[in-house]
Amino acid sequence: MHRILKAKRRMQRVPAAASRHKVLPVAPRVPSSGLQTSVLVLNRQYMAVHVVTARRAFGLLYRELAEVIHVDQGNFGTYSFHSWREVSEMLAQEKQPHDDWIRTVSFEIRVPRVIRLLDFDRVPKQRTNLNRRNLLARDGHVCQYCGQHFPTHQLSLDHVIPRSRGGQTTWENVVCACLACNIRKGGRTPKEAKMRLMRRPERPKRNPVLLLKLGNPKYASWRTWLEGVLWDVGACD
Ligand SMILES: [Zn+2]
Repeated sequence: MHRILKAKRRMQRVPAAASRHKVLPVAPRVPSSGLQTSVLVLNRQYMAVHVVTARRAFGLLYRELAEVIHVDQGNFGTYSFHSWREVSEMLAQEKQPHDDWIRTVSFEIRVPRVIRLLDFDRVPKQRTNLNRRNLLARDGHVCQYCGQHFPTHQLSLDHVIPRSRGGQTTWENVVCACLACNIRKGGRTPKEAKMRLMRRPERPKRNPVLLLKLGNPKYASWRTWLEGVLWDVGACD
């Protein structure tokens, strides 16, 4: 168990233009995958609004546009970039298997899982974009005709009712299909091709990419912030 440092809250607005040219001191000596891990972003009202890379999160923290939200034993503390550095020193004594760390020239800092924007009040729009990445995530990288799992590059998107027959590009009419099934089906409907869909395609109620991330224990602390309607935040990495 560790002591939670009292965070130094920095609520005043830092003009973006004034801080734009500051250089983030997180410059790892060796390329670190830690900078590519995902960080959940909350708005000022603690609503989940976005997912960014750790690199972007540290940029926001260093420019004092955001603070770290750290969940510890059911409670959460808030930290500025500098107080998080101090907390990281303590946490480093008992590193946990799912934590990510960034080592800089002069110090080591833990990648936060959640940050909160200090000057952003808007509520996210509640729609998941229809795109290839979200469609593959919705279907779990499983071909909806043969039911087999494939890596991303072996999957295509199939219009259930072909576009040449008036089929629309919608959540309800586009599915993930392996190349072999897509070729076999061709410009036919599933009925004509005698190919059955594994399940009826629908607009996902929750952001499918976030759902995949929540399956990873390192993002377990996101659950606190992703309940109810606020699940449907955009993911950008
Ligand atoms: Zn297939």
